[in-house]
Amino acid sequence: TKKFVLVQHFGGLPKPSDFKIVEETLPALKNGEILTEAIYISVDPYIRAYSVRMSPGDTITAFQVAKVLESKHPDYKPDDVIVGSFGWRTRVITAPDGQSKEIVSAKPYKLPDLGGLPLSLGLGILGMPGCTAYFGFLELCDPKPGHIVVVSGAAGAVGSHVAQIAKHIGCIVIGITGSDEKVKYLLDELKLDAAFNYKKSDLATSIASIAPKGIDSYFDNVGGEISSIVMYQMKQLGRVAVCGSISSYNADARSLPKVPILQPAIVMKELIVQGFIVLRWANRFDESIIQNLKWIKEGWLKYREKVFNGFESLPECFIDMLQGGNIGKAVVKL
Ligand code: NDP
Repeated sequence: TKKFVLVQHFGGLPKPSDFKIVEETLPALKNGEILTEAIYISVDPYIRAYSVRMSPGDTITAFQVAKVLESKHPDYKPDDVIVGSFGWRTRVITAPDGQSKEIVSAKPYKLPDLGGLPLSLGLGILGMPGCTAYFGFLELCDPKPGHIVVVSGAAGAVGSHVAQIAKHIGCIVIGITGSDEKVKYLLDELKLDAAFNYKKSDLATSIASIAPKGIDSYFDNVGGEISSIVMYQMKQLGRVAVCGSISSYNADARSLPKVPILQPAIVMKELIVQGFIVLRWANRFDESIIQNLKWIKEGWLKYREKVFNGFESLPECFIDMLQGGNIGKAVVKL
């Protein structure tokens, strides 16, 4: 079996040479363990953000949709399709009840019957990013019909999902994203009320033209300058769910962008700002998966994926996602 390990800590944007494939031979299965084979492996921004906690030689952390090949655990049987934090590995032995070595982990769980939808959705809209959108937005942003909601990273896995839930509730939704193609996708396919390319637009003026009285809630995937601009345009007691800050994941301390100090906006507008990690709701993931599956079947919750083929393409897929190559979820099919 194969795994990708970290060769050296990333300096800025990861490079293919920061990763190396290592062959390993797995031992015999012990009681309480399962042997799984990857079907899809995920690339997620947190891999970059948490890489500082990894050491050279460590296997790259990630979720997989995997098939159980062998089981010595009563809750899993061969051919079960499960989601687990198994890393960038072709096959792995894990003890579902034991302590995972992965930085972000959840107990492996079976996917519900997806009714013919691709199993890769277990890594996106029906997986960790889907739970992030569902709980992060609904629990922290208190959306109501007519609210003005801004979503950054709006064409990505989490952002495109949040934007659609907000539209469905009846909010006025403004998406911020990084290309004209993505702006078009947000307007034409996801039917957002407005969408802006942060690389080209004067965001402050563009947002003010749609929301002259301010923004009710902001779902923040990117941080940095974009978020500073948005937070100065919030309404009194506006809500900010701080989900991620991808604009700084590749920056080292010396090259961090200089952005306006946010405290005056937070104080004067009495903003309700809350960071979160989706694992807070790990014991409610079922609820989100079932609800999101229902919404897909109802026809209004749409998804896109950018699928790379082959285990070897994991670094390329990851680097592409960090540079905004994806609309929707980036994932690798084995
Ligand atoms: P996406 O599918 O959104 O992919 C990442 C996107 O980030 C790219 O497509 C790119 O889109 C955008 N991006 C890259 N660099 C920058 C930049 N400098 N400024 C602005 N945007 C940038 O990833 P996910 O949906 O998986 O994750 C989105 C965010 O949510 C991340 O910050 C992630 O860390 C966070 N997250 C947090 C969780 C939590 O528990 N708190 C759980 C899951 C995700 P573009 O072309 O628009 O620039």
